[in-house]
Amino acid sequence: MILILEPDLQENSVAYQAMTRFLDGLAGIEYRIHRVQGAEELLREVYLIGNTQSLDLAQMEALPGVAKAIRVSREYRVLGRHHNDVRGNGFTYNGVHFSQDSLHVFAGLCAVDTREHVEQMMRALQENGQVCTRMGAYKPRTSPYAFQGHGSACLPYVFELAGKYGIKVIAMEILHESHMDEIRQALEQTGNPTGVMLQIGTRNTQNFELLKAVGRQQDFPVLLKRGFGITLEESLNAAEYLASEGNNRVIFGLRGMKSNLGDPHRNFVDFAQVPVVKRLTRMPVCIDPSHSVGSRDTGPDGIPDIFQVTAQGIVAGANMVLVDFHPDPATALVDGPQALLLKELPWFLEDVRLARETYEERCLLAGAQREAGA
Ligand code: PEP
Ligand code: MN
Repeated sequence: MILILEPDLQENSVAYQAMTRFLDGLAGIEYRIHRVQGAEELLREVYLIGNTQSLDLAQMEALPGVAKAIRVSREYRVLGRHHNDVRGNGFTYNGVHFSQDSLHVFAGLCAVDTREHVEQMMRALQENGQVCTRMGAYKPRTSPYAFQGHGSACLPYVFELAGKYGIKVIAMEILHESHMDEIRQALEQTGNPTGVMLQIGTRNTQNFELLKAVGRQQDFPVLLKRGFGITLEESLNAAEYLASEGNNRVIFGLRGMKSNLGDPHRNFVDFAQVPVVKRLTRMPVCIDPSHSVGSRDTGPDGIPDIFQVTAQGIVAGANMVLVDFHPDPATALVDGPQALLLKELPWFLEDVRLARETYEERCLLAGAQREAGA
């Protein structure tokens, strides 16, 4: 069961104290209080764990300071959608709002290689009105002999350049909890010129200790990629690990499944599950067309497969697109074959706009159908 507290409730108030005293007295029930930063106010939610079936919903709702009580029926207690759930599905980070209704493109380098390439990328983003990007500093590589990313060494110039070009959020994969400290330190050193969304890659989706550590911090939101060889349910539970530790600013990323059935694409594209994730949970959903398709192959109509699957995900309601670009893919140290060219950025963004427009029109059509049927 989840109790949503009155928005203006102070922790030192009589009502708050009375409510927690009552909860302390419940046998066989533990609780955790989560602080959720909404667009305008700090909200508090209490998660009750244990024998909550014996609790009366109306009685819990009548407790001092409680605005609403929700009985959670599904596995994803924090991030799931529940009957009568009034909780929102979005968050604002560094001035950028993410929700199941918004759409943001994170075009950028799969891996940071040179300062010049970072600068060229960010300049192109600014010229095209973009405030988000992707920049890989820590790279999980199949071979131990492959380039592993520049790590903390590149962070100061990446963050400085982000500030210079008005980038507000950088999606950046971390492989170990110590990377969070390195990112925090570099941000401080450079005067916090930008924000970072921590990315948990498909190889770490079920690295539970990493999930717990990332879930315990509240500084950074998280993009959790779906595991490439596990069920959707298992990946959604991984996201719930982050939230159960206290961080529910989580975006769920689809990036294709490892299967030869998707050949010749690098992974079997799974964007048909965008609406499924939105229905089961309150997480905004990201698609990664680059790691799904894995090449610049183009159809007879002149449209690259990466553009095609991006449009498919957006037409189905995706909220974020993580996509590899590179100023000079031939020299890229990681994933050059799937990188789009900087001169293709305006084309890509226009294609995204068209797909989004179609999605919005489809929502209006569905709304009209609902009303006609009512
Ligand atoms: C990436 O986005 O750079 C990446 C390695 O993705 P994934 O974890 O989906 O393979
Ligand atoms: Mn990559």
